[in-house]
Amino acid sequence: MTYIIAIDGPSGSGKSTISQKLAEILKIEYLNTGSMYRAVSKYFLDNNIKENSTENEISIALNKIKIDFINNEIYLNGENIESLIRTDLVTKNTSWVSANKIIRENLVAKQRQIASTKSFVVDGRDIGTVVFPNAKYKFYLTASTKERAKRRFLQKESNLSIEEIEEALIKRDLYDSSRAISPLKKADDALEIDNSKQSIEQTLQTIISYMDKEDVL
Ligand code: C5P
Repeated sequence: MTYIIAIDGPSGSGKSTISQKLAEILKIEYLNTGSMYRAVSKYFLDNNIKENSTENEISIALNKIKIDFINNEIYLNGENIESLIRTDLVTKNTSWVSANKIIRENLVAKQRQIASTKSFVVDGRDIGTVVFPNAKYKFYLTASTKERAKRRFLQKESNLSIEEIEEALIKRDLYDSSRAISPLKKADDALEIDNSKQSIEQTLQTIISYMDKEDVL
């Protein structure tokens, strides 16, 4: 039997690191849905599609996008863009992209299709609430904004200071959790884990301890 582990939470809560390691430990697949919104964001920046573009322009552009994952790295129309999607510009532009209904419908359909035939760890903002409401396991990771800003700063993917990163994180959290469509929100049946003071290993152990023995071989 295949199963889905939904891992949601705000930026810097450790979702991608923990999801990727968890998938390795369990020998199942990993899908990073944030990368998909970032890939669309990058394509739109490169092709001059903006927040005020028409629905038609957005739909036509979406139809020209092919997203693949190979070894957990994202490819946009055949090009590996893994190292190009975490710049400050792409991150900022992702806010309107991920609040757009047509774009979300397109990506949610892709996510359901990708994770339809095998067991998957899927991380994002709306995985337990919208994409896979029937996921067998649901976790909601959080950490203090100070800790999350520190983690992002240490990743060295941004040119901003730690204080600026914290400010941008707070803004993005607010935007993600207050948008009308699929806001960032803990599913009622998700287990919340605050990992501000936990190591990656400790969080992984907490998650695994909640799983059925048959899924942890
Ligand atoms: O997880 P990551 O920080 O890479 O996600 C980038 C952005 O994509 C988030 O700030 C959020 O706006 C959006 N996102 C989303 N739904 C998801 C995953 C990401 O809206 N399932």
